[in-house]
Amino acid sequence: MTSQQSLEETLSPALQQRREQSLYRQRRIVTSPQGSRLSLDDGSVLNFCSNDYLGLANHPEIITALKRGADEYGVGAGASHLINGHSRAHHALEEELADFSGRPRALLFSTGYMANLGVITSLAGKGDAILEDRINHASLIDAGLLSGARLQRYRHADVHSLDKHLQKHAAHNKRRLIATDGVFSMDGDLAPLPALSVTAQQHHAWLMVDDAHGIGIIGKQGRGTIDHFALDQNQVPILMGTLGKAFGTFGAFIAGSEALIETLIQQARSYIYTTALPPAIAVATHTSLGLLRAADDRREKLASLIQQFRRGAEQLGLTLMASQTPIQPLLVGDSKQAMALSETLLQEHQILVRAIRPPTVPAGSARLRITLCANHTAAQVDQLLDALDASTQKIMP
Ligand SMILES: *Cc1c(COP(=O)(O)O)cnc(C)c1O
Repeated sequence: MTSQQSLEETLSPALQQRREQSLYRQRRIVTSPQGSRLSLDDGSVLNFCSNDYLGLANHPEIITALKRGADEYGVGAGASHLINGHSRAHHALEEELADFSGRPRALLFSTGYMANLGVITSLAGKGDAILEDRINHASLIDAGLLSGARLQRYRHADVHSLDKHLQKHAAHNKRRLIATDGVFSMDGDLAPLPALSVTAQQHHAWLMVDDAHGIGIIGKQGRGTIDHFALDQNQVPILMGTLGKAFGTFGAFIAGSEALIETLIQQARSYIYTTALPPAIAVATHTSLGLLRAADDRREKLASLIQQFRRGAEQLGLTLMASQTPIQPLLVGDSKQAMALSETLLQEHQILVRAIRPPTVPAGSARLRITLCANHTAAQVDQLLDALDASTQKIMP
């Protein structure tokens, strides 16, 4: 008989092991709004790790809208959408998001994580097959696992690998759902959507795109990756977008056909069994959507910062990834070195860039996930490049 160990005794060794492997995760406390500069507990830093790509998270018009929303609706939604939490502000925003994405309907979710869980578990279950890019966002992978369907992960951005999986495993499954990031969150590259959509149609599979990092950034008026590739709803019937990144607010939505959205309202457990977003967030997001659509100047600024950064990094001999988006990871490989680089940038150069380590990225591919935002200046990007030069020479001579 073994006596049961205390919770402390059970958990501590794994935590210690994580520390020794440089995989320990720690939060930093922020004491200012998002922006190119951030205040942390221990001082002011240049911020190169936010997903607030258009610099809208602290925009005065959106703050005013949030306050107006709170005056009109108070703070909490009080209940889920199906009880009495579905406000006129939520409803209006859904109609605007449907229009923005060129689809008949859109449905708000409280987070992107929950939107992915809700849509995937509603569309596929036992006896079905879900095919996902190997480096999809964790929420898509978790949704696939939760669904009870057979989850197959194909090689990154590899349509032949997808096709093989579909031929080999999915032929006898009832439903076939393919899910991919539009812009890959840790690599910054785009999914090969035109080829994926052809393969999906050949196999009578449904294609879903999670465009958390594409919406607001690429496509006409920031309509995202699907618009960038000029695909339509027949080719990509399921779109997920988030509001916490380029929109600068909070929440997420699924856009698609009448039947898709009505199915989610009936079945998506992460929609039904959770409190609606605060209505004031919907009011704020209405203002944010207007700014985002009109933000071609911000998108052009971003594009020029991206080119500046890539040119500079190449001249320094740094290992960039094949990304033309604001996500510009610097591949390091070793987790300890990635941590040491991040720490040196912070302590010696007051620059905040997070090291992304396994299991968020594949083993041996730890990296600095640098993100550029429209409110960075060219001088700040130069400052980052100088600091990267000094830090990499120190840590990886
Ligand atoms: C951030 C992100 C999500 C989750 O969205 P939240 O609203 O933050 O929960 C989903 N998918 C991708 C690709 C993401 O980057």
